[in-house]
Amino acid sequence: MRGLEDSVAVITGGASGIGRASAKRLAAEGATVVVTDIDEKGGEETVAAIETDGGSADFHSLDVRDYEQFGTLLEATVDRYGGLNVVFNNAGIGEDASFSDTTPEHRDEMIDVNMKGVWNGCHAAYPLLAADGGGSIINTSSMAGWMPAPISTYAMTKAAVLHFTRSIAHELGRDGVRVNAICPGTIDTAMTQQWYSKEELSAMASRSALSRLGEPDEIASVVAFLASDDASYITGRGFKIDGGFV
Ligand code: NAD
Repeated sequence: MRGLEDSVAVITGGASGIGRASAKRLAAEGATVVVTDIDEKGGEETVAAIETDGGSADFHSLDVRDYEQFGTLLEATVDRYGGLNVVFNNAGIGEDASFSDTTPEHRDEMIDVNMKGVWNGCHAAYPLLAADGGGSIINTSSMAGWMPAPISTYAMTKAAVLHFTRSIAHELGRDGVRVNAICPGTIDTAMTQQWYSKEELSAMASRSALSRLGEPDEIASVVAFLASDDASYITGRGFKIDGGFV
């Protein structure tokens, strides 16, 4: 894909699932990937997998809830690699509770990671990307942010990510910074295995036109496209990647 060779990409939540698959894909396309997560072991495993495949990557511990830490990490990335081109705000946490069963504590955790984490990443990255002549931000929303979902508090945070992404696109676009959201359907990752039973996952798979769950690699390919110059006229949009979920 055009423009990823020799680019520099930062990924949050890169220790697992969609983040790990996207880190590997961006590295395979020639990007130097800064893998970040609160899970240091998983993050180092992602880097080791990339290096085994001949790619270039580095791991840094980053809690996306911490704005100062996020800014410091991005500035250190520019200092070390001479620029910044792509930021994938992917870290997130889920739930399996109905609205009435959701506790205020878990509500706050989801708001902090899913909403504030994305805000922090966009706000800290924008001036650095702009200073480098532009770039691409990709934020992870969800199908649950697009259509009504029983996991309503998670859905609230993901709808916020989608709407926020659309809303900042005009301001960032003036400096050549594109920002898009991805809305995955049900993807076979640690998150879905943690929150749903086999029966629930099977029921969700049957709601997709392809009658199966998605694989992290199938999200990573869209992330790589949106990160690349092949998507140079795409900004302020959300993309359903859900196997035709209804
Ligand atoms: P995952 O649990 O495999 O990966 C999430 C990663 O985020 C983990 O490595 C975790 O350590 C990290 N993380 C959690 N809190 C963090 C924090 N405060 N700071 C930094 N990192 C943190 O899950 P996944 O399925 O790969 O999910 C990735 C993203 O995709 C999430 O935003 C999730 O909401 C979204 N999503 C997933 C699905 C799905 O079906 N799996 C569907 C739609 C959207």
